[in-house]
Amino acid sequence: MTYLDVDADGKVRLEDLEAAICPETILISVMFANNEIGTIEPIAEIGKLAHEKGIYFHTDAVQAMGHVPIDVEEMHIDLLSISGHKLGAPKGIGAIYIRKGVRITPLIFGGAQEKKMRAGTENIPGIVGLGKAVELASAELPETRATLEKMRDRLIHGILEAIPYSKLNGHPTDRLPGNCNISFEFIEGESMLLLLDALGVAASSGSACTSGSLDPSHVLLAIGLPHEKAHGSLRLTLDTDNTEEEIDFILEKLPQIVARLREMSPLYEEISKQAK
Ligand SMILES: *Cc1c(COP(=O)(O)O)cnc(C)c1O
Repeated sequence: MTYLDVDADGKVRLEDLEAAICPETILISVMFANNEIGTIEPIAEIGKLAHEKGIYFHTDAVQAMGHVPIDVEEMHIDLLSISGHKLGAPKGIGAIYIRKGVRITPLIFGGAQEKKMRAGTENIPGIVGLGKAVELASAELPETRATLEKMRDRLIHGILEAIPYSKLNGHPTDRLPGNCNISFEFIEGESMLLLLDALGVAASSGSACTSGSLDPSHVLLAIGLPHEKAHGSLRLTLDTDNTEEEIDFILEKLPQIVARLREMSPLYEEISKQAK
């Protein structure tokens, strides 16, 4: 197995991918969009390269499904996995798309359910919920996307303008519609989370899967952030339930929170002295 690095925006470089392909390569797997920094990968180009070389292409589209358009034909996708609860379906249900002719082996053995691919009794309410969620998300996708992108960009630019020593993580435009991930120098993401939480704002400093750990996000390290900047990062994700008033609220409160935390930071004190 070969792991590829990403560029400073979090994208896989096609030339790296091409160089890593060897005669034994049977599968390329690249996530469609990153869950922390929101970067959307060049999926169609990767799929095209994979198919030119006769290699299967899998993508983890958990973040992308229902948020950005996906076309398995145009994008040369052979295998695509999604998870229900990321697009409004119940927890405990997911799906994999398998292109006709692609043969996989099961991971769960037992009964003959799901064409012998996944033993165990089907979760009917979950399946129906996932189907409905995908149907609704797909029907509303263009409007949802436009609305969220507009809110997201106002949030991002508002924060970057109001708060010095802040930097957007992830690609500025090839980005999930609702994702805002920003690093603030001289402070800790965890302290921002506490102060935001006290105001009723749910945010994250990394991925939910690592919220119990104090290690910096491996995604932020992979895009080249030094540890201290990776520690001072904040992810705010938007959905259609969010409102313009909530964006205003963040744009009012976050600069105060960052300023308050920086007042307590000896590092920031040094920098402010130097600036004067
Ligand atoms: C959430 C997530 C997963 C895991 O899905 P679960 O069903 O929550 O285990 C996998 N990949 C990405 C990109 C995700 O965002």
